[in-house]
Amino acid sequence: MKQSHLFTKTRREAPKDEVAKNAQLLIRAGFINKEMAGVYSYLPLGLRVLNKIVGIIREEMNAIGGQEVSLTALQDKKNWEISGRWNDAVVDNWFKTTLKNGTELGLGFTHEEALTALMRDHIRSFRDLPVAAYQFQTKFRNEARAKSGIMRGREFLMKDLYSFCRDQKEQDAFYEKAKQAYVRIFDRLGIGAETYITFASGGSFSKYSHEFQTVTEAGEDLIYVHEGKKIAVNKEVLNDEVLADLGIDRAELVEKKAVEVGNIFSLGTKFSEPLGLVYTNEAGKPTPVVMGSYGIGPGRVMGTIVEVHADDKGLVWPEAVAPFAVHLIALNKKSADGAEDVVKKAADELYEKLTKKGVEVLYDDRDATAGEKFGDSDLIGIPVRYTLSMKTFAEDSIEKKDRLTGKVEMVKIDTL
Ligand code: ATP
Ligand code: MG
Repeated sequence: MKQSHLFTKTRREAPKDEVAKNAQLLIRAGFINKEMAGVYSYLPLGLRVLNKIVGIIREEMNAIGGQEVSLTALQDKKNWEISGRWNDAVVDNWFKTTLKNGTELGLGFTHEEALTALMRDHIRSFRDLPVAAYQFQTKFRNEARAKSGIMRGREFLMKDLYSFCRDQKEQDAFYEKAKQAYVRIFDRLGIGAETYITFASGGSFSKYSHEFQTVTEAGEDLIYVHEGKKIAVNKEVLNDEVLADLGIDRAELVEKKAVEVGNIFSLGTKFSEPLGLVYTNEAGKPTPVVMGSYGIGPGRVMGTIVEVHADDKGLVWPEAVAPFAVHLIALNKKSADGAEDVVKKAADELYEKLTKKGVEVLYDDRDATAGEKFGDSDLIGIPVRYTLSMKTFAEDSIEKKDRLTGKVEMVKIDTL
């Protein structure tokens, strides 16, 4: 993409009311737009990052047998009354609305009820199980505090997968597979080193659930990290019993702030029983399906990546999620006699060649100063920057700079 075509502009200042570093930088770099507190739009650069995150998660969900669906945001109150979650005293973050005829609807904050109800038409016998379905879908939550930028939206994208199994044993095996998939996902997303499998409360059907918590000062949660075992315990459940279960000593744990980027949960028959999702087992007996749920917030992940990797110059994207692989900068100058700019011409050619080879290039072809171009490039945070100037061109070379390390080297244009 040519930067002269990119409609977004960088800006020096973030909005005054934005307190989160992730949103401040993403707004300044033109990746997102703040519509109101906790509500953000994704612009071309931001959407490219979000889609890469989604792509990695999708690959790993497909690899464990997940089948992609897309359920509706508008929710039938009936299913939620059955599960007991329609009540505002039980769920305090509902957005609800009303049809012209007075019928109440909800805007889904999660989809256990909807998918469980849907599966009643598709799961009949033990032969139909196990099955796992997932989606990338917009959730609505009337979050009380929205001070963490895109890490806590009131409208946000969630990957939610639900597993449906014959019994607890089958469910436990799937749960373990999903846990390993999550480890791979956060590794691939470039936050593996900072992310801990964290023991959290399990609800009524299992002793623990597992959160994937990424250590960052911007986190809203407190976790207790065991560096040696690369696990953590959420403050909510830190007690002698948990320590004994995990075979760890309180003195080995270090308190850290962290953000929950994902979680996996054994649901047992919590939803299948009330909603009547039963299958006929081998003995011909109607049996409730055993379920699990597995969430990740791609937007929250994007905000977390920013919090973990950004520096004082701006964003720093890991290769796998960067909006472009390469930022090509031409330091072109119109010569006084109006002659064709050789640097611009050479950079244009390079851009065409790289793009044809399938390299994702953002090409700064704008009529701007070197200072502006470098400042914007640092802010946008593409992993590798190639700069062609009259000086490098005279040596048939181009300057390569690594955004993360700042390392600079000269590369022959031919070899590039
Ligand atoms: P938290 O305790 O931080 O509010 P949660 O327990 O409500 O999170 P879940 O209901 O399990 O989160 O949602 C699954 C995933 O969706 C979370 O792990 C997180 O990545 C993401 N998520 C949850 N709430 C938000 C939000 N308000 N904005 C962006 N992502 C979110
Ligand atoms: Mg929440």
